[in-house]
Amino acid sequence: MVDLQRPEFIYFDRQIRPWDDARIHVSSEAVFRGLNVFEGLKGYWQPDGSLGVVALQRHYERFQRSAKLLNMPFDYSWEEFEDAVHGIIGALAQKDNNIWVRATLYMIEGHWGLGQRTDLCLQAFQTPIERPDPIEVGVSTWKRAIDNVLPARIKTSSNYQVARLARMEGRKRGYAEMILLNSQDRVAETGGSCVAITREGRVSTPPPSEGVLESITIDIVEKLAAANDIAFERRPIDRTELHIADETAIIGTLAEVTKVTAVDDYAMPGTADLLERLADLYFDAVSTGNAAAELSCRHYT
Ligand code: PMP
Repeated sequence: MVDLQRPEFIYFDRQIRPWDDARIHVSSEAVFRGLNVFEGLKGYWQPDGSLGVVALQRHYERFQRSAKLLNMPFDYSWEEFEDAVHGIIGALAQKDNNIWVRATLYMIEGHWGLGQRTDLCLQAFQTPIERPDPIEVGVSTWKRAIDNVLPARIKTSSNYQVARLARMEGRKRGYAEMILLNSQDRVAETGGSCVAITREGRVSTPPPSEGVLESITIDIVEKLAAANDIAFERRPIDRTELHIADETAIIGTLAEVTKVTAVDDYAMPGTADLLERLADLYFDAVSTGNAAAELSCRHYT
């Protein structure tokens, strides 16, 4: 059995409700075709006792872009969204944990684009205060689809079928996470985070046009790199560069900046510390309210 959290409350149909009250009919496109778009948000306790959600407005904007690309009605104002996110956090936050919120917009009515109605659901889960441990990763045989098949830019569940298959492949091969290549067999991303490497004193990460989600964490890390004189670039990355990199990390809202100790059993030589420094700078930014993290903070009683 896998121990999944089952919080007491959930936001559904514009209210905080008991967990069991969030129900969707099996004939809705949300279930029938897996039609949804979503965001993963992270909240950190701050030194002043408030809880700050990282770049909430930027997540709201990407959420809207995903909905637009799938022609899903999105009728939540920024104020309503921000209040709802802080509402569910306020109902569930625990002082000794940080929190992860999954915001999902489900297509609950309509058929092939007609008569559509969506509903926002917010789930919040406890996450440890501790930073993630370094991991070993492999390169998956599964790939990211191209932009006119299943655009990586859209954060929708269909994009995570391949992530699930890669994760299961990784489990068999003894890796915690897997890197997906794109249709050109260059590096794209993992199932749930971006990939960055260090070579020749520069940090590089593939741009969205390589089959990568438009990551908010990468934008924050890029700002922190600029402020700390760390060379940072977005460019295509070959698979073999993963095997000769000085450093590798996976980067995302949940992963933060997680150091990778080996890719496909090629150990990282430890000959650079730029991603190591960026990991510290990122954690410091999100947990102490550095402007780069664009936190939305509230106090809860
Ligand atoms: N790629 C994928 C496939 C993801 O699911 C995520 C996590 N949202 C990321 C990259 C990183 O994006 P972000 O920094 O916005 O969390």
